Amino acid sequence: MDLYSGPINKLISELSTLPGIGEKSAGRLAFHLINMPQARVERLANTILEAKNTVRYCKSCYTLTDSDLCPVCANENRDHSTIMVVENVRDLAAYEKTGKFNGVYHVLHGAISPMIGIGPGDIKLKELIERLKDDTVKEVIIATNSSLEGETTAMYISKLIKPSGVRVTRIASGVPVGGDLECIDEVTLLRALEGRIEL
Ligand code: ZN
Repeated sequence: MDLYSGPINKLISELSTLPGIGEKSAGRLAFHLINMPQARVERLANTILEAKNTVRYCKSCYTLTDSDLCPVCANENRDHSTIMVVENVRDLAAYEKTGKFNGVYHVLHGAISPMIGIGPGDIKLKELIERLKDDTVKEVIIATNSSLEGETTAMYISKLIKPSGVRVTRIASGVPVGGDLECIDEVTLLRALEGRIEL
């Protein structure tokens, strides 16, 4: 039985597809939006559209940016011979916040997970290999999460890169198993980076 009008049902079902939003929260958000002044709803809708239309992948590291190259890749003072591979933009932000990593990044936008059908071709992996063809790269630091998917991805990347002679390291297991990088404090992140091991 439909309790609400069609457009409200549609809004609730759209909102409930967002990560972390269940049916209940979607309902709450939908009614909140409906009760908001018209001008605020328009501002919100326009902000979403503007972000969607202007934000794109950095053509080098694939983080999200509003120009061709992100500020990190565009910075000549960064060490472009060291690439830290992270699963997502939030992980990049966590390392960037420590201010102690002077290399550049590569954002995979996911991790290999055979369980849910995410293979190597579904993440930005061939883009990473493409970057290594430029022989200025000396080290690839794999900073994927220490979840099963993160470890699987790390092993896969390491096997792929090793034959090329580029040094491959993995951040130390100081990062708790199953730990999400962005939730871990800066000290732990730095320890993990400093204690990285050869793969
Ligand atoms: Zn970049």
